[in-house]
Amino acid sequence: MYSEKVMDHFTNPRNVGEIENADGIGEVGNARCGDIMKIYLKVNNDVIEDIKFKTFGCGSAIASSSIATEMVKGKSIHEALKLTNKAVVEALDGLPPAKVHCSVLAEQAIKAALLDYAKKNNLTLEGLEDFDFEADPHHDDVHEEE
Ligand SMILES: [Zn+2]
Repeated sequence: MYSEKVMDHFTNPRNVGEIENADGIGEVGNARCGDIMKIYLKVNNDVIEDIKFKTFGCGSAIASSSIATEMVKGKSIHEALKLTNKAVVEALDGLPPAKVHCSVLAEQAIKAALLDYAKKNNLTLEGLEDFDFEADPHHDDVHEEE
């Protein structure tokens, strides 16, 4: 069901932890698996020098955040913005259809952290102007149950 890459990043995740005095922090969650993902960025001259994550969630969410951090580390913030969940899924050699939303979370968490960095530095990031990382298509489901 899960590729070797997924199992590898789940059992041995890269870049786990947090960064003190991070330049950007992004936190997102999804209601479907209850995954919560937090991304910390250290940015220097618009380049992501360091990135760490903390994910409380399912194995796919952990594997997605692990590989996503590897994919943007050392890249410029503009390159990192182009990271899509599709690229994350491809890098993991696929995810079961029911788990694709966990890779969406990784994309959103990185974008949320980049947006936080941009806000703190008065930057406008192209493509993030109307990005709303709090929008969750399943958000309403949760409230219906309350
Ligand atoms: Zn999940």
